[in-house]
Amino acid sequence: MTPVTRESPVIPSFRPVDGAVRRRESPAASMAARYLTWVVAAVVVPMPLMLALSLELPTIYLGRIAAMQIGVAAYAWMLAAVVLSVRPRWLDRSVGLPHLYVIHGGIALFAIVAALVHNQLSSSTGLVKQTGTMALILLIGLGCWSVVFMSGWLTSRIPLLARIRSLAERLAHHELSVWLHRLNLVAVLLVFTHVQLITYISSLRWFMVVFDVMTAATLLAYVAGKIRMRTTALSGVLLSSRVVAPRVHEIRIRVDVPTAMRWEAGDFAFLRFPGIEGMGEYHPFSIVDAPRRSASMGANGRRSMRGMRQVVWTFDIREDGDFTRRAGVMTPGSRVTLLPPFGRIQRFLEEHPAAPIVIIAGGIGVTPMLAVVEGFAARTALVVYTAKRGSLLPAAEGLRRLVRGSGGRTIIQEGRLNASRMETTVIPGAVYLVAGPARMQRIWMRFLRRRGVPASRMYNEPFAW
Ligand SMILES: Cc1cc2nc3c(=O)[nH]c(=O)nc-3n(C[C@H](O)[C@H](O)[C@H](O)COP(=O)(O)OP(=O)(O)OC[C@H]3O[C@@H](n4cnc5c(N)ncnc54)[C@H](O)[C@@H]3O)c2cc1C
Repeated sequence: MTPVTRESPVIPSFRPVDGAVRRRESPAASMAARYLTWVVAAVVVPMPLMLALSLELPTIYLGRIAAMQIGVAAYAWMLAAVVLSVRPRWLDRSVGLPHLYVIHGGIALFAIVAALVHNQLSSSTGLVKQTGTMALILLIGLGCWSVVFMSGWLTSRIPLLARIRSLAERLAHHELSVWLHRLNLVAVLLVFTHVQLITYISSLRWFMVVFDVMTAATLLAYVAGKIRMRTTALSGVLLSSRVVAPRVHEIRIRVDVPTAMRWEAGDFAFLRFPGIEGMGEYHPFSIVDAPRRSASMGANGRRSMRGMRQVVWTFDIREDGDFTRRAGVMTPGSRVTLLPPFGRIQRFLEEHPAAPIVIIAGGIGVTPMLAVVEGFAARTALVVYTAKRGSLLPAAEGLRRLVRGSGGRTIIQEGRLNASRMETTVIPGAVYLVAGPARMQRIWMRFLRRRGVPASRMYNEPFAW
């Protein structure tokens, strides 16, 4: 692992770690961006279709308009969920990819409920009925599957479900879930056909123009997103891999990145190993190294050819499921493909330029925090790092030295903090970064809320969406 030492450059608290010049957002602006994304996806996107329908629908069909409008809203939400699924980069730094996934899941659930209500309120026959019913079955089936197998929301709350999931995943790997999830596009095409087949709807000229344009734009955004993912993917080579704690592998990857590319403290990258069986799908992992200001030179990067430079990124990967359990089979020289980094942690810290930072990390959740502490040592007032017995990463020692060296405090221990120690973590005026298992995050966020810390001063990094 890149050692977290006193020699690491300590960046002034009010400057971006990567040295890039950019406008600093206010905490209110970032909260607004999140709410605005919800409002756009939930309210604005269905508007044009609903408006066109209500203006154009002949009065003899007015008795059915409620059912139709609900169906139209369901379709619009399906389209919004597709657009959000391509990880729009322009939204990542302001809203944060984990929150975008939450909005994606929420909007998809709205679509399923609305489609179900539409189905109950409508009567149709023949192909119209068949396409509608097939789409609904597909939506419900994929929705249930995704809630259990692709999101940690339910499984982190219901241990029995988590157990069932981990048993089922022996047969149904995450890669299968990813492929099944893509069947949502088939559901979109089925609903598209369903609407084209309803003659009194397909004869509504302006409604159909809006409907077709929105569908085409969504599919275009999806294809463009996939093409962008391929064309902007970075290639790298595994330099080394070693076990640093029980079930935790530290890997170092040399990556060719465009000279102009910047990444930020606490960012994560999606990685895949195309040459290794079972490791072909992208999975997210936090970059342990903080970006240095002179990132194109020195230990963290050296010049390469034709507008590219080479950097070395370190990742700590804990064995969890199909992909991560294969971390042991990677050998130096293995080819790696990465998506350019995502993340909002550094932006959150820059939105509160003078506030002391309190970091609360559990288990493997400490990984993004290693870069944060390295980059924002001067502001780090307290680091709480807990892990199961024998699972503390060796980086803990460097973390302790660095934080104490700049006047901060650390609580690094095996096992949870007791109630009285938790009380000592509340520092007036501080901002809080919380990362770790979903349950631990919930406990800490609730604790901090009860101690009067407003939501705008907390940022949590969920490791499962
Ligand atoms: C922002 C972020 C940063 C992360 N950083 C690290 C890190 O530094 N070190 C580390 O060990 N782990 C990290 N993780 C977790 C890591 O991505 C998962 O452990 C890994 O993807 C599990 O894959 P699996 O096939 O081995 O296990 P699975 O059994 O398939 O999954 C285990 C858990 O990981 C989640 N998961 C699986 N695949 C994905 C995916 N493609 N995208 C999002 N979630 C997924 C699942 O919802 C599940 O809760 C991070 C996750 C996120 C979202």
